[in-house]
Amino acid sequence: MFRGPMDLEWEDVETPRILDPRDALVRPLAVARCDLDPAIAIGLYPMKGPFVMGHEMVGEIVGLGEAVAGFKPGDRVIVPFQLSCSACDPCKRGLTNACSEVASGTAFGLGPHGGVDLGGALAECVRVPWADVMLIALPDNVDPITAAGIPDNVSDGYRCVAGPLRERPESDVLVVGGLAPSVGLYAVMAAVGLGARSVVYVDDDAERLGLASSLGAEVVDARGSWTELRLDRKFPIVVDANVLDAGRNLAFRSVEPCGTVTSVSGGASAMSSLPLQKMYNKGVRYEIGRVHAVATARTVLNLVTNGTLDPARLVSSVVPFSEAVAGMTASGTKVVFVNDLT
Ligand SMILES: [Zn+2]
Ligand SMILES: [Zn+2]
Repeated sequence: MFRGPMDLEWEDVETPRILDPRDALVRPLAVARCDLDPAIAIGLYPMKGPFVMGHEMVGEIVGLGEAVAGFKPGDRVIVPFQLSCSACDPCKRGLTNACSEVASGTAFGLGPHGGVDLGGALAECVRVPWADVMLIALPDNVDPITAAGIPDNVSDGYRCVAGPLRERPESDVLVVGGLAPSVGLYAVMAAVGLGARSVVYVDDDAERLGLASSLGAEVVDARGSWTELRLDRKFPIVVDANVLDAGRNLAFRSVEPCGTVTSVSGGASAMSSLPLQKMYNKGVRYEIGRVHAVATARTVLNLVTNGTLDPARLVSSVVPFSEAVAGMTASGTKVVFVNDLT
């Protein structure tokens, strides 16, 4: 339970139960720490508690409403973090983070960030509405720890490069890393896997630079030089996972005319300034917004099962639920919590 900045604890809550015949009850098995979670936990990203954290989950079905046809108790499933009905107009167009059947932003493990608090994955049980369309069967040969980030961060990194690379195959890709640590590196992994001609990764963190290099990126160490940094070429596809102004400005400086910059965060403050005149003169397509989790996660799972993506390569530690309070703010690119509750 997130009660407030640096105030996390285990607490008894009401046991979820089937409220609609289309619901499933899922017992989380593995829960990945989203890049946003530590920022929430320490108060860097202000959120009002209390709410149960955890929104990247793989679990096991322990209960089903009578209208659910596609799953049975005991099935292992991936649970995309945003709630989507898959039937409304935005959902049918693939804009599943904008489902018109629920309040904007409705998601697991983010409390009032969405209109409806669905509970979080760091728990014994979670109720999942619209189970037949929300849940994705986990193949037997995919480990829950490997798949735990698919509901959000792995899919987020993938979508930053997949669309632009579809339009411009075999392009050079730049990823500016930073405070969305795993999303930036998943973008690197996806760009390499999807056939980018080259992938350049910029960051000021030695561990992440090493990971990016191991994934096949050329790395540029930005330590001490963000504002002066000039790369030796421009890129048609740029990902900003840095979150801070200096990283975003590097992304805009480094994109080639009529290229695409995709931002995976809204920055560190409510209002930020953009170099709009330079962007206009250059012609920059700036994409900013959350991943469409339901619409993206199945494709990403397919890329995991065929070996194109291996999210486990970024897992820095595996922490039992009972130590999740410390694990939520522990260092490391990707913490995965495993359920040891009895
Ligand atoms: Zn998240
Ligand atoms: Zn919908």
